[in-house]
Amino acid sequence: MRSTFTSFGYREIQTPMFENLELFTAKSGEGIIEEIYAFKDKGGRDLALRPELTAPVMRFYVEKLQMEPKPLKLFYFGSCFRYDRPQKGRYREFQQAGCELIGTNTTEAYAELIALAYLLLKNIGLTNINVNIGNLTILSAVFDRLGLSKDQRKHLIPLIDKSLFDDVQTVLSECGLEPKKAQDFVTFLQTSDKEKIKKFVKGDPVAENEFTNLEKMLDLLGSSFQIKNYQIKLSIVRGLDYYKGLVFEIEAPILGAEKQLCGGGAYELVPLFGGTDVPTVGFAIGFDRAILALETEKFSFPKKQLDAFVIPVNEEMIQKSLQLAQILRQNNVTVDVDLLRRGVGKALKYANTLNVKTVLLVGPKELETDSVTLRDMKTGNQELVKISDVLSKVKNM
Ligand code: AMP
Repeated sequence: MRSTFTSFGYREIQTPMFENLELFTAKSGEGIIEEIYAFKDKGGRDLALRPELTAPVMRFYVEKLQMEPKPLKLFYFGSCFRYDRPQKGRYREFQQAGCELIGTNTTEAYAELIALAYLLLKNIGLTNINVNIGNLTILSAVFDRLGLSKDQRKHLIPLIDKSLFDDVQTVLSECGLEPKKAQDFVTFLQTSDKEKIKKFVKGDPVAENEFTNLEKMLDLLGSSFQIKNYQIKLSIVRGLDYYKGLVFEIEAPILGAEKQLCGGGAYELVPLFGGTDVPTVGFAIGFDRAILALETEKFSFPKKQLDAFVIPVNEEMIQKSLQLAQILRQNNVTVDVDLLRRGVGKALKYANTLNVKTVLLVGPKELETDSVTLRDMKTGNQELVKISDVLSKVKNM
């Protein structure tokens, strides 16, 4: 994942594990306290373990990075903490890999961002993932047209988020909407057909313009990044108030209930934290879930292999053995040395458990000719090798 991020020109940053509680309540309201680890420190300050990294990265940006040339491409990798009820794929401490793109809101910036999220998951070996793309500006414009109040929207959004469309329709009827209008809205939320959506937003300049841009971005995803397995899903609301415009999610259907691997979109936090307004967009991948999805897809994880294990055959050979290991390490060979002074037989057994390629036996007889015994752990073959040749031999194994 790191190499994919850096191949797109992103730079890695780190922020503290805890922040002032206010950072998260300012962003998500007091209700967030129920969902996070919040506590007082010895100085009586209200702190919180971070539940996500977007707010911390934005705080960091406002404090230190506002003068940097734009766009700024930042990625991070770290622990997050949520007071969730633990279950498969949902933990109280989990890892997120994510990024923020600061200073641009062009269609190409959005296309590149979604492509990055998709490729991060593809490049680690996942085969079955879906991209769903929505837009909150279009959704808000439709809410406006239907004349829904703030309170009515608040009531509807969690239902839309959970795809409870029958309930959405009931609530809309209770709000006094004609059944036909309510039905059309629910159809609009569920369709990914561009023509149907276009027809639905026709006559609403804000929504029309936003949809044209969305289409341009989708064209770029297909033509420049060869990503075609996306769906428009206007029912994505991401459950958060600070998202604006683009929103997207990537899921691994194989995971069942907790299938969402990635969530992101455009948001507005910089002015809230006292900075100068600037476009911001980003996403976060649930790293643990990505691993879980790989395991479920029966991905064969590469086994870690150690290049060499050095065994001193007696105590007098310890100094030479450590020296040999050190020379190899300085030449990018991974090496361990027996540190328990056990006999050769037991040390060889231990080396086997390490999945090591070669064992180097350092003994007095071999040293008389400046040599050691090199054992190929795959074949069991042993040969006498000059110390000056050990490096190239081990590297060629
Ligand atoms: P969010 O910040 O809620 O949009 O989450 C981004 C991603 O983090 C989700 O798509 C999940 O993959 C992952 N995630 C969120 N909460 C948890 C959790 N409690 N345990 C494991 N992964 C999580």
